[in-house]
Amino acid sequence: MAYQSSSWHRSLQLAEDFYCYIWQGRGNNCNSCLFPNVLRGERPHVVVDPGHISNELREACFDSLVKAMDGDGFRVDDIGLIINTHSHPDHCQANQAIVEKSQAWVTLSEEEDEFRHTLGEKLHSMLGMEIPRFEPLFYLEEGNLDLGTKNKVELQVFCTPGHSPGSVSLYWPENKILITGDVVFYGSIGRTDFSGGSLSLLKRSIDKLSQLDVECLVPGHSTEFGDIVKGKPNVERNFQAVKLYL
Ligand SMILES: [Zn+2]
Repeated sequence: MAYQSSSWHRSLQLAEDFYCYIWQGRGNNCNSCLFPNVLRGERPHVVVDPGHISNELREACFDSLVKAMDGDGFRVDDIGLIINTHSHPDHCQANQAIVEKSQAWVTLSEEEDEFRHTLGEKLHSMLGMEIPRFEPLFYLEEGNLDLGTKNKVELQVFCTPGHSPGSVSLYWPENKILITGDVVFYGSIGRTDFSGGSLSLLKRSIDKLSQLDVECLVPGHSTEFGDIVKGKPNVERNFQAVKLYL
């Protein structure tokens, strides 16, 4: 466990091939995840939700992520794939910066890609932000997603709409790690009042995720209660608690 004083991200290694970068700035930004050295070829890292370039308080979120990754010995230039849980700017604004540096591939769900070109674009302009320009190489679908052959990471993709119409969550059975994006947090749930949000869909998505065998829940944002929910009993308690909101 290392703390990067020059960065607003706290680095946490949660498995041999898995790092979490917990956002600790004052303004809004998401937590990012990294599967280092999994893809074959020159750019072996896979990042999930690189977050903002700069947020509403003009904190340099992306520079901070670059520094935090550097501290662990990983270069942003070596990212070969970006996975987005959804297309809100605080999760995917930095896509463009990474693609420019490393020509990384991008993937998200097809529903979310359609959303980002329609209602999502309006959301960006409402927030005074430009829509990040990137083209997904392929779409995420519910089912298996095998990352690379170097250090094989076999993920399962779950479609979990509600916060956003094409949100996905990523489950890693080998380590019982669940990356939830903005579906469920520590003691809280994702907002459904943005365009494309639906509380009834969010409820169904959370019901689905709560069936999984999870030791470590990695949410897209930290709350007043905490960031990562660790230990199966705590994860189960967290699901019980957040279901009271639904
Ligand atoms: Zn969001």
